[in-house]
Amino acid sequence: MFIFGHLGIGSKMVSPVTRGLPRRFVLIGAILPDLIDKPLYYALSLATVKSGSELGLISGTRTVGHTGIFLLLLTCAAIARRSRVLAALVLGVASHLILDGVSDHFANINGTAIGASSAAIALIFPLQGVRFAVLPFSNVGEHLGSLRQPWFYITEAAGALILFWDYWKSANKREITARFQAQRTERRRLKNHRRQAIKAEMSKRL
Ligand SMILES: [Zn+2]
Repeated sequence: MFIFGHLGIGSKMVSPVTRGLPRRFVLIGAILPDLIDKPLYYALSLATVKSGSELGLISGTRTVGHTGIFLLLLTCAAIARRSRVLAALVLGVASHLILDGVSDHFANINGTAIGASSAAIALIFPLQGVRFAVLPFSNVGEHLGSLRQPWFYITEAAGALILFWDYWKSANKREITARFQAQRTERRRLKNHRRQAIKAEMSKRL
């Protein structure tokens, strides 16, 4: 899953618990693990002209930012500082880690199921040893190879649609509310009219 999938599906997934929190930071949190780990890996790779396990601990694109420890530290900071911004980031990051785990079940990079490995190994780091998975992507070619996967298009399209729908709703909020209120007023008027007509009919019969 790439950017729109994480932004759209991730933010929607945690929306029941993010009311009142700054949405901007939920969105940043939803891509924060990748904003940390992808540049970190590729910068190290470029600087050392090495890749994968040759780089030692930072052996792939799901490392420190994808760990449960990172999420836990962020949560502690949010609680200690009673910060709504940090709480929004925590929920965004949590959505990212869940979606990475879920998408691993459906993804298949270069014919190899990346499966539970990279997302799960990072999440429970260092319980399975002080190491991260080489996968999902040890070089830019493998990374771009994931663009051929159907799950990539499905999740990116779904995420983009959700983002567009949320944007449209907030942009037209005033109009939608006004239309909803007008419909409610009209229904109430019709109901009163019907009630009065029944009353008038009954009093005529009496
Ligand atoms: Zn990720």
